[in-house]
Amino acid sequence: MLKAIGILGGTFNPIHFGHLRMAQELADALQFDEIRFIPAASPPHKNTPTISAEHRAAMVRLAIAGNPVFSCDERELHRNGASYSIDTLQSLRAELGAQASITLFMGSDAFTKFDTWHRWQEIIQYCHIALVQRPHAHQDNLPKVLEPFLHKHYTKNSDDLHTAPAGYVTMRQITALEISSTAIRTLFEQGCSARYLMPDSVIDYIQKCQLYRP
Ligand code: ATP
Ligand code: MG
Repeated sequence: MLKAIGILGGTFNPIHFGHLRMAQELADALQFDEIRFIPAASPPHKNTPTISAEHRAAMVRLAIAGNPVFSCDERELHRNGASYSIDTLQSLRAELGAQASITLFMGSDAFTKFDTWHRWQEIIQYCHIALVQRPHAHQDNLPKVLEPFLHKHYTKNSDDLHTAPAGYVTMRQITALEISSTAIRTLFEQGCSARYLMPDSVIDYIQKCQLYRP
């Protein structure tokens, strides 16, 4: 069995229970040793977030505090330019070695745009991909080029993720939580509460730093 590391990249603007529960359920179902949350400094497919990468990473650290399996990996914050996953994966590979199993977690909404990622066809050489259904992101929107990709790499057998360091795509059912950072930002901007959608520690931080004000 290889050491198995799960990674969840995102803008985390802000982090919420959808992210946390997805990571926890995949960690349990796929028996990962370690999960790294990797905040994007400048996400290539989004406008530059108005909340700095430092604030977004600080919220991730607060949200995962106390979970020994979770950590916040800030390597994208120390790099200039767009935060491309391929660069992050190459640097993780260099650090963890060829014999670690690395699995990139992705919601279905992210996967339907996977073919627009920088050097997307090379990504699977560096990691596995674990897909989860995100409420209201419909799989029938899957671009045609991703069908043969899925076909080629798909496995039902989670053992494959522990015997090979990279190369498989798997799908998992998780508790559907219809929570998004976009909806949470709107709540704050409208002066409403985001309690029970995200950790209290993160809400306290947002209030203390006066983030997401109208
Ligand atoms: P935004 O609304 O700003 O796009 P978001 O809630 O989609 O934010 P991201 O940081 O864009 O959060 O998401 C990072 C990763 O987490 C993506 O792979 C996304 O699909 C996944 N994800 C986010 N929210 C959920 C959720 N509620 N359930 C499952 N996966 C999720
Ligand atoms: Mg998103």
